[in-house]
Amino acid sequence: MSSHSAQPARDPRSDSRSESVRNEPALGRNVAPTPRSLAASSLEDQWSAMQDCVRAVVQPGQFETWFRRAALVHADGEVVRIALLDNFSRGWLDTYYREVLERAALQIFGSARRVEFLVDPEAVARPSLPPTGGTDNAPLPPGPSSAVGPEDAVRRGLLLSSDLGLNPKYTFDNFVVGPCNRFAWAAAAGTAEAPGKAYNPFFLHGSVGLGKTHLLQSLCVSLLERNPKTRILYLSCETFVNHFINALEDGDLQKFRNKYRNVDVLVVDDIHLLANKERTQEEFFHTFNALHQQGKQIVLSSDSPPRDIPTLQERLVSRFKWGLVTEIEAPCYETRMAILKRKSRDRGREIPDEVARLLAERVDSNIRELEGAVTKLLSYAGISGRPVSPELAREALRELFAARKGQPSMEDILNVVTERFEVKLSELQSKRRTNTIAFPRQVAMYLARQITRHSLEEIGGFFGGRDHSTVIYGVDKIHKRAQQDPETRALLDGLLAKLKATSE
Ligand code: ADP
Ligand code: MG
Repeated sequence: MSSHSAQPARDPRSDSRSESVRNEPALGRNVAPTPRSLAASSLEDQWSAMQDCVRAVVQPGQFETWFRRAALVHADGEVVRIALLDNFSRGWLDTYYREVLERAALQIFGSARRVEFLVDPEAVARPSLPPTGGTDNAPLPPGPSSAVGPEDAVRRGLLLSSDLGLNPKYTFDNFVVGPCNRFAWAAAAGTAEAPGKAYNPFFLHGSVGLGKTHLLQSLCVSLLERNPKTRILYLSCETFVNHFINALEDGDLQKFRNKYRNVDVLVVDDIHLLANKERTQEEFFHTFNALHQQGKQIVLSSDSPPRDIPTLQERLVSRFKWGLVTEIEAPCYETRMAILKRKSRDRGREIPDEVARLLAERVDSNIRELEGAVTKLLSYAGISGRPVSPELAREALRELFAARKGQPSMEDILNVVTERFEVKLSELQSKRRTNTIAFPRQVAMYLARQITRHSLEEIGGFFGGRDHSTVIYGVDKIHKRAQQDPETRALLDGLLAKLKATSE
């Protein structure tokens, strides 16, 4: 396997829709002003009017689930931008309710607007906050998913503007330690013990699906267990970028700065997404300095070490190296076995050693994929009522085994696509959505759907953890284009022929 091995990855915390990282305004150019007539209150009024239109055409239950906890955060002559609580809502609204919202916008604004979604829980919560709120530990608004429990306690501990929710399974205790990740695990735990002191910043890097988000969240949970009052801002880099762009558009940088500089711990997942975002890098530089000077802890994760993040300003590279830079490596065979055992036990079932060995041999570079294999195998066993055996594993996980028998694998697809379009794998997996990247990405998704047995979720995983609706959208787009455009058809035929040749 090459180092660019295909890696199914479904990151529950990563923002998975390419649409969500917006391009920042170019450096040196004035930021397009938001029409002043669209002040915050009028956005609220406009949203309320749009909600009325939506209410008239959807079931009451649907309305409550999808449209109540959302907010209009921007509207101009072309675009209306709607903030949502989480990725799941974004995927859902994008797939099923985009037209409804476009019609509502048409009714309210008198002409067509493009509807864009972004994940911004803070913006959604804003109307229900007291007037002075916004940067403090205000509890989350009640909603269907906010049942009270230990998870909720963890969630409440985060600052409101954090990405929603820590995964309660992501704790240091649940992290299987081996030679590949022992140092990363110990460093994360050490950071949680002495925030702002031991390692600042703590910079964790490694390839996708190796446990970076798990460790970052464990660190947050551990900090909150020690001191529930710790003011932690935990977010994906994507959210930082989105917040920054909103602040630019609203001309409210001061508020943005207050928010980011008044925390005890700032945790930014996937900081490599600062690549090609000059203005955001500049702002992050100042945020970093302000926090570091106050002795506040900064924790960052990335898919590569600081010096390898494309276009990252030298002064950020050097700051990221001030504290501790640690790599999390792919798990060795023994660790993979331990993880398989642990994950199956967590799911209430042991898998026999010979089956674990079979899986550990085949899935060698991505823990998320290992986890997925266990889940699939155990549910297959549950449904079929058969014991977990090597035969059952071969049946349940056909694609894992089939890939060895001359059928083109995801890796082959990624290879031919990156070669044909002269793009890098990291670009396909990035959030970039310029056509030069988005088109090859969608072609690769289409091919994966045609010739592998991977599920939509798994395919999304190969492209930086995109969700299934993004994959459906991509596949569909290429399918339609191939029907209408002979050139696209020829392109796909060429790629398919090449894949066939490589796998023979
Ligand atoms: P990354 O952020 O590096 O892409 P994640 O932290 O999302 O990876 O990890 C992917 C999945 O693998 C998660 O479900 C996580 O709980 C699991 N995982 C990763 N490393 C370990 C480990 N050492 N022990 C147990 N589970 C792990
Ligand atoms: Mg992650």
